[in-house]
Amino acid sequence: MQTALSEELLATPDGAEADAILRKCVHCGFCTATCPTYQLLGDERDGPRGRIYLIKGLLEGVSEGAATRPHLDRCLTCRACETTCPSGVQYGRLLDIGRAHLERKSVRPLPSRLVRWLLRRTLSRRAWFGAAMRLAQRLRPIMPAALRRKLPVFVEQETWTAPLRARRMLLLQGCVQPALAPSINRATARVLDAVGIQAIEIEQETCCGALSHHLAATDEALDFARRNIDAWWPQVEAGAEAIVVTASGCGTMVKEYGHLLRHDGAYAEKAARISAMCRDPIEVLAAEDLSFAANAPDSNIVFHPPCSLQHGLKLAGRTEQLLTQLGYRLGGICDSHLCCGSAGSYSILQPRIARELRARKIANLLASSPSLIATANIGCQSFLQEVSPVPVRHWIELLADALPAAVSATPAVDIDLGAESEQ
Ligand code: SF4
Ligand code: SF4
Repeated sequence: MQTALSEELLATPDGAEADAILRKCVHCGFCTATCPTYQLLGDERDGPRGRIYLIKGLLEGVSEGAATRPHLDRCLTCRACETTCPSGVQYGRLLDIGRAHLERKSVRPLPSRLVRWLLRRTLSRRAWFGAAMRLAQRLRPIMPAALRRKLPVFVEQETWTAPLRARRMLLLQGCVQPALAPSINRATARVLDAVGIQAIEIEQETCCGALSHHLAATDEALDFARRNIDAWWPQVEAGAEAIVVTASGCGTMVKEYGHLLRHDGAYAEKAARISAMCRDPIEVLAAEDLSFAANAPDSNIVFHPPCSLQHGLKLAGRTEQLLTQLGYRLGGICDSHLCCGSAGSYSILQPRIARELRARKIANLLASSPSLIATANIGCQSFLQEVSPVPVRHWIELLADALPAAVSATPAVDIDLGAESEQ
């Protein structure tokens, strides 16, 4: 594709990167076939090729911001188009650059700005979100049924502290996951312990930054990244092997720290190392002896691969392979490459499209009559659970179920390595 970006824009890192991405696109349109919003809306401007043209127009200064915005807002950032593209067009990065450019050049209407600000303020603060969830749990009995369905049932967790081990890995807590499903990181810590690895959670860490990043609050996202790097660094220098991220959406973001901070003199090197250390649980456990979890219960389950796992982290098929090796009978799923509609804050900002995608996804997931839906991202898990007649759980919890009952703790681990968290 020929481009005509201004010299001024081309002189910036984002401008040069966008130009290189645009030039790779041969406008063949293969990507439109796998785009969920194009499938639903049938408008070229709501498909990847159309959005690429819109972003090109924006960057060249010939497109109207107000006319372009709804089409970029309706993109799920699922990156299915990236997986399909035979030319290696990095659509996700182009969209990030296009959205940030649009926010700078054209003022978003006040109500929309306010909603986005509120989402960033509430969902990215672990302490605030946790307090809101505790309050909501108390009000559960008097809530309307529609709201009650959105609230997970609170399950008290037994006390368990990771025993000291020679091998250590950091375990990202995330913002909403500790309140919505504390069982996930706990299960991960127990499974890691079973294979001889001590999981360490750092209280001072903050949001991974994905929410802000996808809402085009770039500076805020980078600030979160720097704060996490500072929080993790002492343990990295002390020999932690990896940073395990149980939510694939957050994992995709942490893997991008190195690229996003490549021009930051103070953080570029550290960010690259952090990204190289980031692991989804499947990347860690596939290499370990999981014989304790073999001979899985004779149950028929189905695995929903989050977009961030298959298109972001490029780990398609790995979890399904492991679960099958452990003895689970996995039902097939039609259109497994398509998004469930959750997509970070998308289900709140674009509820009509999100609900339609979820309805299709649930129908496909239930086609094999599973007793359980397994997945790998808290956003998908919560969104699907709202309407699923069967439980939706993180797959690592199934492995933890195979372990002996949790016991109260061996030596406690001091994880207070720095200043108090602001969360
Ligand atoms: S992004 Fe890739 S698949 Fe889509 S039109 Fe461009 S070259 Fe073709
Ligand atoms: S990221 Fe997903 S919704 Fe957006 S253009 Fe690509 S396939 Fe379509």
